[in-house]
Amino acid sequence: MDFSFPPEAIAFRAEVRRFLKDNLTEEMIAATHDGTIHSPALHKAMAERGWLSGAVPKELGGGGRDPLESVVLIEELQLARAPIDAMGVAIVMVSMILEHGNQFLRDTVVPRLLSGDALGCFGYSEPESGSDVAAAKTRAVRDGDEWVINGSKMWTTMAHVADYVILLTRTDPEVTKHKGLTFFLVPLDTPGIEIQPVPTMGTERSNATFYDDVRISDDWRVGDVNGGWAVMKTALKYERGIAGGQFPSPPVIDAAVDWASSNTRPDGTRVIDDPAVREKLIRAMIDVEVCRGFAYHTASLASEGVMFGVEGSMTKLFASETYKKHCRWFHDMLGVEGLLTHHEPDAHMGGLIEENLRHSPVTAIYGGTSEINRNMIAEGHLGLPRTR
Ligand SMILES: Cc1cc2nc3c(=O)[nH]c(=O)nc-3n(C[C@H](O)[C@H](O)[C@H](O)COP(=O)(O)OP(=O)(O)OC[C@H]3O[C@@H](n4cnc5c(N)ncnc54)[C@H](O)[C@@H]3O)c2cc1C
Repeated sequence: MDFSFPPEAIAFRAEVRRFLKDNLTEEMIAATHDGTIHSPALHKAMAERGWLSGAVPKELGGGGRDPLESVVLIEELQLARAPIDAMGVAIVMVSMILEHGNQFLRDTVVPRLLSGDALGCFGYSEPESGSDVAAAKTRAVRDGDEWVINGSKMWTTMAHVADYVILLTRTDPEVTKHKGLTFFLVPLDTPGIEIQPVPTMGTERSNATFYDDVRISDDWRVGDVNGGWAVMKTALKYERGIAGGQFPSPPVIDAAVDWASSNTRPDGTRVIDDPAVREKLIRAMIDVEVCRGFAYHTASLASEGVMFGVEGSMTKLFASETYKKHCRWFHDMLGVEGLLTHHEPDAHMGGLIEENLRHSPVTAIYGGTSEINRNMIAEGHLGLPRTR
């Protein structure tokens, strides 16, 4: 397979690198320690360059950038450790609205999301349904031209800084679970919404959100009444596209090389000269090349107009599982020094390896757990029977 990039993608990579050099600051990266993986200034600057609309398919009315360029963008942003949670949400949410939403939502919400003036968040998961997202219980009941929403969502990441939540609700409890769902785009300043922080061990802040007699007009409905599962499938399709490019390990590997090169064993030899350490570093670098192979393959399929499915699961599964493994290896290598976090002055590279060790497990949970992705690969690629 030849994954050499077309000249446009090579030029775009150089443009992204220049942009990051000029716009991404250490303060922006450090600010993620407060738990929100988002920088308003960086998000706005990317929006102004048209990079959010560029990732939305042309047939939906977006900029329709070649998926090979989108993977280059995500790769460079991740290599630079740029805080970009809001970007992924905006791209998926706009695609959902453009594919299923009415003219009111297209006219009022889409321009605000694409310009970076407003932020969104996903309200799918509930305290008792995550992997089985179609089991959502949050109720929406019609009352004239309005809907009344009651229920609670779990893991509504970014809700505390967002303007809108795209909410999966149950509108018909009498039919089979996939058939009684409806989506709404709910402004988060609507009376009756409460947002409570949920801290995670990976520093990242998520939220529990509560909806108590929240009233919204039918204008805010996305897709057909009881047609929510079709909207959910659109969301998963575009989310897999974003997850198609995953490069979380390289900063951790760079930190490990730096530490091993600048530290010595009690016998005076450099850690990096230990064959066991070198083997782990090289295996990790090979894993990153495999990740690149998966991501570029997925992007080149999309570039040729093939809507990938199971390839997105393979990419995400391999990237998040190897990332977890690399963090464990290199955290072990640091020994007791690995216990120092970013608060502590002697922490190596600001505690980068320790922080990634805590962050890496969540990447194997959100956007579909590793078990769910394994199921999808088993069924979709290996042809094994359905397990559920
Ligand atoms: C930090 C973080 C941020 C998140 N952000 C958001 C967000 O913004 N919006 C949102 O809606 N959700 C968000 N999520 C929720 C995330 O999508 C769910 O946590 C995930 O889908 C798993 O659901 P669950 O937590 O209910 O676990 P469960 O579905 O209860 O799963 C528990 C365990 O059982 C396994 N399991 C479940 N079903 C199967 C099966 N059929 N076969 C094999 N194994 C199975 C799972 O893999 C897992 O190991 C976030 C989660 C985290 C941790």
